[in-house]
Amino acid sequence: MSEINVQLNDGVAAQMPGPITVGEALKKLDRDAAKQALAARVNGREVDLAFTLGDEQNGGSVRIEPVLPETLEGLDVLRHSTAHLLAAAVLDLFPGTKLGIGPALLEDPRYGFFYDVITPNALTEADLPVIEKRMRQIASRNLAYRRDEITKAEAMRLFQERDEPLKCELIDEKAGETVSVYYIDNSPFIDFCLGPHVPNTNKLRAFKLLSLAGAYWKGDAALPQMQRIYGTAFFTQEQLDAWLKQREEAEKRDHRRLGRELDLFSIQEAYGQGLVLWHPRGGAIRREMEDYLRGQLAQRGYGLVFTPHIAKRELWQTSGHEQNYADVMFSPMELEGTEFRIKPMNCPFHIGIYKSAQHSYRELPLRYAELGTCYRAELSGTLHGLMRVRGFTQDDAHIFCTPETVRDEIVDCVNFAFALLGAFGFEKFKIELSVRGVNTSKKYLGSDEQWKRGEDALVEAMESQGLAYERMEDEAAFYGPKIDIKVEDAIGRLWQLTTVQFDFNLPELFELEYIGEDNKPHRPIMIHRALFGSMERFFGVLIEHYAGAFPMWLAPLQVAVLPITDRVNEYADKVAAELRGAGFRVETNLKSEKIGAKIRDSQMQKVPFMLVLGDREMEQGNVAVRERAKGDVGVMSIEEFKTMARRLVDSRALSNM
Ligand SMILES: [Zn+2]
Ligand SMILES: [Zn+2]
Repeated sequence: MSEINVQLNDGVAAQMPGPITVGEALKKLDRDAAKQALAARVNGREVDLAFTLGDEQNGGSVRIEPVLPETLEGLDVLRHSTAHLLAAAVLDLFPGTKLGIGPALLEDPRYGFFYDVITPNALTEADLPVIEKRMRQIASRNLAYRRDEITKAEAMRLFQERDEPLKCELIDEKAGETVSVYYIDNSPFIDFCLGPHVPNTNKLRAFKLLSLAGAYWKGDAALPQMQRIYGTAFFTQEQLDAWLKQREEAEKRDHRRLGRELDLFSIQEAYGQGLVLWHPRGGAIRREMEDYLRGQLAQRGYGLVFTPHIAKRELWQTSGHEQNYADVMFSPMELEGTEFRIKPMNCPFHIGIYKSAQHSYRELPLRYAELGTCYRAELSGTLHGLMRVRGFTQDDAHIFCTPETVRDEIVDCVNFAFALLGAFGFEKFKIELSVRGVNTSKKYLGSDEQWKRGEDALVEAMESQGLAYERMEDEAAFYGPKIDIKVEDAIGRLWQLTTVQFDFNLPELFELEYIGEDNKPHRPIMIHRALFGSMERFFGVLIEHYAGAFPMWLAPLQVAVLPITDRVNEYADKVAAELRGAGFRVETNLKSEKIGAKIRDSQMQKVPFMLVLGDREMEQGNVAVRERAKGDVGVMSIEEFKTMARRLVDSRALSNM
């Protein structure tokens, strides 16, 4: 028998006779870790606890790192294993089900895992509790997750026999010579999967199925339609309960529901998914966003430009969008032998403005800003209210500058973002630096040297401001590295809004120039930046952040005038007209309802101030003021109310107190 030297992390080590499973070896080194472990890494490679240390490790030394609960890696194993449990339950309940894929989700705030299935009869929401119950039954039987290694041909035969065409397709495309398949023993489930998984179903105690959605096989609308079952899993029931509670809070704030209830916007099937209709009340908020932004742009030396929604196809070829961005562009359209494409970005148009004249270094930086409406061919399954849409308006800008000033321009963009987001009530930020990275999966334009220069400029800009950031590998734009700013909302969720991108490629592709101090032509650097990101998405985030109760300056309806009896209707109209004349958004409720009903209605609409008017107010020319959170705040003259309301609006106060 051969001996293996096994070491636990960087700590204790022992000689053990092989072959021995990782689980047993762990037990000899640390009983507690062995009991806790969900899987392990052996010399850096993730394996199941049932993995055997044998011939391969013969006579050598092995380092074992247990994958433990309360780690991201552990959560990944737990959730992925729960996805298998889900598939097992579905197969058990609905024989003949075809399985797609079932990954863990760690970044998605809404879900923890999913499995794509085609069941003999389409599932409904009512099936979810039934499936979840079956999952619990299977879990309680403490069945083992068992791995088997077979040849590719055997695997193909196995899944053909089981009539699993999608799995066969995956094996055909992805498998090497040998294939690992996983069983949950004594269940009908087998999967083609690399693992690792938990050793047995007993480890899965806190999970919940959440929802059902449509999905396409491989995300391709031309391929079979599937159903996606979403769920989540945690290490403890307490964690799951806390998460469900936060989710409930998030649902109360759901911008799609509030958008309907407060009459802010709609997205209608008849007009197309992902295309937003802004109603007057949503439009009022948008106007405030735009007005604030335009004021700031003027102060910060931006020129406002306007450009068309379509351009000749060749332009998108020159810009590289057609080569690098084609999958989200709408198809070309033709007129008199010329092809046009609708814009997914505004950049080439601003380049056109820059190129329309010669520039000297003295004119730079040139900052062009546009509320530019773009269109992207997002798949229907990825659309989500205002957060992910097909038509949206970016608060876009492009800055053309010299290499000497690029750092200062980036600093200014970042500070502009903080000021803007702060004005709308966001105080906590997270900054990410997205770079090309070492192992790139995407197509990137430009040389190593250029990428390094771009990254250095962004890093210098952030360090000069003492800003902490996280580095994200392989997350850059195809033309350059970028800084992304996420905001934390009222219930602690992060939303990606601002992006500041460094670009040396488009100036090259479009042969942009400026005349330098040396009287010779030079290439400018281009910065792309959007601060709100898109007006639609920011609006969605704003609705959820405030749960629809907007501060006075943003509220679509700022004052509701509520007469107690018909006798004061005329006075109510007079008060409303006076406030409207002073620039406030006001409505009078002249319905023949009790005052209580009128107040309730305004309260539901989250109107910041209600003016309750009776005979006495009319006689004295006063208003009785109610604030939506505080209730009665007393009687005052119209003039006094106007002054108070004006102060809240002008200072863009975030609370009415
Ligand atoms: Zn798996
Ligand atoms: Zn751009």
